[in-house]
Amino acid sequence: MRILVIEDEEKVANFIQRGLEEEQYVVDVASDGKTGLEMALSGMYDAIVLDLMLPGKDGFEVLQELRAADNETPVIILTARGSTKDRVRGLDLGADDYLPKPFHFDELAARLRSVLRRSSAQKSTKIVVGDLVLDTAAHLVWRGDKEIELTAKEYALLEYLMRNKHRIVSRTMIMEHVWKDPLAPMSNIIEVYIKRLRSKIEFDGKRFIHNVRGIGYRIKEPSNGE
Ligand code: CA
Repeated sequence: MRILVIEDEEKVANFIQRGLEEEQYVVDVASDGKTGLEMALSGMYDAIVLDLMLPGKDGFEVLQELRAADNETPVIILTARGSTKDRVRGLDLGADDYLPKPFHFDELAARLRSVLRRSSAQKSTKIVVGDLVLDTAAHLVWRGDKEIELTAKEYALLEYLMRNKHRIVSRTMIMEHVWKDPLAPMSNIIEVYIKRLRSKIEFDGKRFIHNVRGIGYRIKEPSNGE
C-alpha cells in the first residue's frame, strides 16, 4: 500500500511518515499543494493524507482539482481542531474522512485502515498465483484452504512479489519497496526472508519463488513436476 502525505510542516510530515512506514506502508511526502496534486494525479496511491493549510495550493484546491479529474483515491484531511467549517467544506469537496490536529498517530492509522477497507471493498483485493492467494485488504495469505501465517515483513515481501507476478524484481527494487533502504542490498537479508517465505509457502515442494541469478526474484505458478 502506497500513501501520499501532503503536509508542509516537516515535523508533522516526518512523524506521519515514520509511523506509517513502521506499519509497512510505502510513504511519499509532498511539502506543498502544487507538488502534492501532481503526485496525487499519478494515480499510484492507495490513500492520501492531506493538510489544509499549504503553500502553493491549499488543501481544498488540491482536493477539488483531484476530484474534478475523476481521481477517487481516498483522502483524509487534517483540520484545525474545532474548525467545523473546514471539516464540512472538506467533506463536501469529497474528502473521505478528517482528523483534527493535533492527533494521535494511532487514530490516523485506524482511520487510514478504515478508508482503505472501504475503497478496497469496491475493487478486488486478491492477488492469485496458482493456489496461492494474498488478500491485500485483510493482509491474509492462503495456499488452497491452508492459511499461511507471516510476519509483517514476510507479508510485505510476498505482497511486493505477487503484485509483480511473472515479472523479475531486482534486489534493489525489493530493498527500496519493502525495506525502504537502498543501501542494504549487499546484506543477505533478502535471502534470509526469501528462505523463510519459501519454507512457509512451498511446504509441499511446489516452487513459486524463483531465483533469477544475479538479478533478483520472480514469483509464478508452479509448473508440473516442480
Ligand atoms: Ca500546514
